[in-house]
Amino acid sequence: MPYRTDCLKCWDSPCSCGYEYRDMTEEHMAEKIVDILGYRNKESLETILQLLNQMIPEKIEKIDNLEKRKSMTKTWFFVK
Ligand SMILES: [Zn+2]
Repeated sequence: MPYRTDCLKCWDSPCSCGYEYRDMTEEHMAEKIVDILGYRNKESLETILQLLNQMIPEKIEKIDNLEKRKSMTKTWFFVK
């Protein structure tokens, strides 16, 4: 009997949180994203590219802030 597993983190199938793609190479990940854009027209692709140019730096900033907060917590524990 066919068995399809849901993502361990978001329980979606296919995964919608990125957990199942975490070990994929950058090249493979980029190819996968481009593949799902396969049926979009040129104008739509250009809009998505503009959005990504805004959204990915925001995502990087969130990760940076999270890492800063983590290192601050570590320092605090160390001082205490
Ligand atoms: Zn997931």
